[in-house]
Amino acid sequence: HAKRTGRNAYHFYAEDMNIQSRQRLALETDLRRALERNEYLLYYQPQVDPSSGEMIGVEALLRWQHRERGLVMPAEFIPLLEETGMIIPVGEWVMRTACIQAHKWLDEGRPLRMAVNLSARQLRQEDLAERVRSILLETGLPPGLLEIELTETIVMENAGEAVIALNRLKDLGVRIALDDFGTGASSLAYLKHFPIDTLKISSAIIVELEDETDAAIAGAVISMARNMKLSSVAEGVENVQQLDFLRREQCDSIQGYLISRPMSAQAFAEMLDKLPPQV
Ligand code: C2E
Ligand code: MG
Ligand code: MG
Ligand code: MG
Repeated sequence: HAKRTGRNAYHFYAEDMNIQSRQRLALETDLRRALERNEYLLYYQPQVDPSSGEMIGVEALLRWQHRERGLVMPAEFIPLLEETGMIIPVGEWVMRTACIQAHKWLDEGRPLRMAVNLSARQLRQEDLAERVRSILLETGLPPGLLEIELTETIVMENAGEAVIALNRLKDLGVRIALDDFGTGASSLAYLKHFPIDTLKISSAIIVELEDETDAAIAGAVISMARNMKLSSVAEGVENVQQLDFLRREQCDSIQGYLISRPMSAQAFAEMLDKLPPQV
């Protein structure tokens, strides 16, 4: 009897796997067509100075508009893009689209810094700096308005090669941000080897700010950034208590649902139209 149950269990398990791998295959097939079908789009989320309220920059966040699934979030498809290598052409599309958008805002008198996320696979790409350079030339965006975000984990995974790749990017005049900082395994002494401009304090720390220890860590990261002449960004800011804390600690900018959710380019433009122009 036990044997039979075991067999049945295995049978069901195998069927489950089939469904899973079929779903994965369907997702992969759809992903392969998404670029040519123009189904990717970028959402933009403001980064704001908590003391003046001035918008300093914007982070570009990838979305996939699927004909049946609707708007698909990065967590559901970026891992597969990375596994299959499709993140290389898609990442290039992201970079170009974000630079075109930032250049458009600049033309309209709004010099907003554009932050673009890069995956591990992109950082390992031999001609990454060359590609970024041609996108900057092609779009006319001043390099200083582009900020490339890499997570602390990606950079530490292969620190030696990351230093070289980051220096090549830095030579273009773009800015480098360390994303999700404070939860990965980076040694502080190692930071000096990386040509970084911005520390983005992980939302995992911001969400726990009521906790004294997390508040102490956030405060320490902000003052360390200041002392190292880096700028600090807090991500995942959702409430006024967090805002007050970050303002007191003189964090340079904040990003989160309290200020705004990520928005489509059109929604973003409508929001900008309501703001006074910047000089
Ligand atoms: P990330 O770079 O750390 O981006 C911040 C994430 O936090 C975004 O999720 C954003 O929508 C979300 N967020 C912003 N404010 C709040 C808040 O107040 N509360 C909460 N709970 N969440 C907030 P999203 O857009 O789902 O992106 C997730 C991750 O996917 C990103 O994390 C980034 O690692 C990756 N990603 C997004 N776009 C790209 C891309 O173009 N290329 C690559 N390689 N990765 C991307
Ligand atoms: Mg940034
Ligand atoms: Mg990011
Ligand atoms: Mg982040």
